[in-house]
Amino acid sequence: MTKTVTVLGTGLMGAGMARNLADAGLDVTVWNRNADKARPLAEAGATVAEDLTRAVSSAEVIVTMLFDADAVAGVMEQALPAADSRAVWVQSSTVGVGGTAQLAELAEQHGVGFVDAPVLGTKQPAEQGTLTVLAGGPSRLRDAVSAVFEAIGSNTIWVGEQPGDGHRLKLVANSWVLSVVGATAQAVGMAEGLDIDPRRFLEAISGGPLDCAYTQLKGDAMIKGEFPASFTLGGAVKDTALIAEAMRAGNTDDRLMWALNEQFQAAVDAGYGSEDMAAVVRAVHRSE
Ligand code: NAP
Repeated sequence: MTKTVTVLGTGLMGAGMARNLADAGLDVTVWNRNADKARPLAEAGATVAEDLTRAVSSAEVIVTMLFDADAVAGVMEQALPAADSRAVWVQSSTVGVGGTAQLAELAEQHGVGFVDAPVLGTKQPAEQGTLTVLAGGPSRLRDAVSAVFEAIGSNTIWVGEQPGDGHRLKLVANSWVLSVVGATAQAVGMAEGLDIDPRRFLEAISGGPLDCAYTQLKGDAMIKGEFPASFTLGGAVKDTALIAEAMRAGNTDDRLMWALNEQFQAAVDAGYGSEDMAAVVRAVHRSE
């Protein structure tokens, strides 16, 4: 059974994941580009590595939870030469279908196993160990990663044997998540613009077939104007572009997703990029 795990990237998601891996009794090493974000994990029992190659050299499993494909490739190009050839790389950052193929190729060049393992759930499920892991990778690697998936999530769906199998389902699920956030912002912003208390909208759908727990959660944040990040607007811009590209590859109309991408981008341009994606409401209706 796997005992040593290294987590590269201790942002909103990676920090909670690393904490749960340590709580599960695994020997955890963490590394982050800005080491200040990794240091608090020492309290949870993780070893905080300042040096990337040392961080991965004795890992049986390496988990990447970085912003995008370029960030993951840049970090892993440096880290992989120091990794054990028996190591398995669990790639959980959302990098898209093309990005996953590129990273799987990098793993192959270095002779390490690769599991495409994006996750569903935001900061709180990452902290609670209740993510859903959408995995794509060869069955021979499942035993090596099972302790990691059990520690970070409450559910693992093995979608298929190939890299990209996990990511295609992840992008389908994120298309729904981001559409719900965009549609909620549209309704809340429209209500404000028409001098209707947006709380009346949440009350009107509450408890019936139109209701959605995520709309209640994000709608409440939009109305209060409180946007502590669980999933940043910058991430929403990245993911809507990745989803639209996957849609095009699958001959699916991508116009709605590009419209959402523009809406999230407008909120980033208005200065909300590091805030929660609920701040997209600021680009829907401006009070002035
Ligand atoms: P985050 O808090 O913004 O963390 C991003 C991480 O990437 C940080 O560790 C950051 O390091 C690192 N990074 C960015 N650019 C880098 C570069 N060029 N080189 C090295 N490191 C770099 O993001 P997050 O929410 O944890 O998301 C991480 C991944 O999980 C993303 O792919 C995201 O789409 C995905 N995801 C997020 C959620 C969510 O709800 N938040 C849910 C599912 C999946 P620094 O701290 O040094 O900047």
